[in-house]
Amino acid sequence: MVVRVASFAAVALAVVACGGGGDAAPSDGSAPTDSTAETGASAETSAPADEVHTGDAHAGSATVTVSKQQFDELRLQVLELAVEVDKLQTAAGLTSAGDEPGEPGAATGEHAVDEAPHWTYEDAERWGELADEFGACGAGDEQSPIDLTGAVGLDIPNAVIDYVPGDATIIDNGHTVQVNVPEAGTLELDGKIYAFAEFHFHAPSEHTVEGDHWPMEWHFVHRADDGSLAVLGVLVEEGAPWPAFDVIVESLPMQRDVADIVYGDVDVADFLPDLTAAFRYDGSLTTPPCSEGVSWSVLQGTITMSLEQMEAFTSRLDEPNNRPVQPTNERTLEKDLSA
Ligand SMILES: [Zn+2]
Repeated sequence: MVVRVASFAAVALAVVACGGGGDAAPSDGSAPTDSTAETGASAETSAPADEVHTGDAHAGSATVTVSKQQFDELRLQVLELAVEVDKLQTAAGLTSAGDEPGEPGAATGEHAVDEAPHWTYEDAERWGELADEFGACGAGDEQSPIDLTGAVGLDIPNAVIDYVPGDATIIDNGHTVQVNVPEAGTLELDGKIYAFAEFHFHAPSEHTVEGDHWPMEWHFVHRADDGSLAVLGVLVEEGAPWPAFDVIVESLPMQRDVADIVYGDVDVADFLPDLTAAFRYDGSLTTPPCSEGVSWSVLQGTITMSLEQMEAFTSRLDEPNNRPVQPTNERTLEKDLSA
């Protein structure tokens, strides 16, 4: 395992050397070779995981903990190297970032890295016409976001979170800045368990409350084993800085579409207000393909962010990234009345 990771490191370092000598203008012949080597190395990163797990199965419980630690450290090293390789590839023009399905920024959540047609918020009313797979954007009748008004008050069981601090990557995909935290724990909603996937922002808010937008809205995306999604929406008001965002701001990537490492563990709970009360309804992704079947919980509690914190994110946008509110149609908007 160590040898394999070391060889991956060697490949990455070789690329660093190659990229560092950019003035030397590597011959056309050498570039594809490097590219192939990196692709092979990337694929290799999954091999140690299998081996560690296989080893664990045969090992005593005392060694499992150590192996897991070692594995976690090596995985982080590999992740960092993969990000470096990605940056250098992009810098060298060897490949366009985001094309590789295995790259760290490949999303597991709402904003999947898309090979789908290009779309913008300016043409949000026409998303359904851009591609067959975007059909729900135009024809769906349970779309998000909506105006949160006319809610029916109920005593709804509160969501239960079981988050743990984890390694994270961050990517500016052109539509938002997204933080992927692959092992951040779970959300339990109506007895169903969803694994945390990623969070990202919209500005101004996508959901409105009695017709009013908020300056910003964060979406915390979770996925169940059956593929269904649950999203926690958190509305932001301008005010005191929210300390948890500092490490995210410090980690903002230099380049669009190139994933970077977040410089510290991310504990999703640190970004949330009190979870006890929420607006609940059945909706959709708010970006193409606008797939329905998403369980929405927009928290009634809000968080504050300073103007500087918000601008660190919004300054990266080409345009406001909120989809206009959609008709509620026959849906019931529930509002939790219990503490
Ligand atoms: Zn979103």
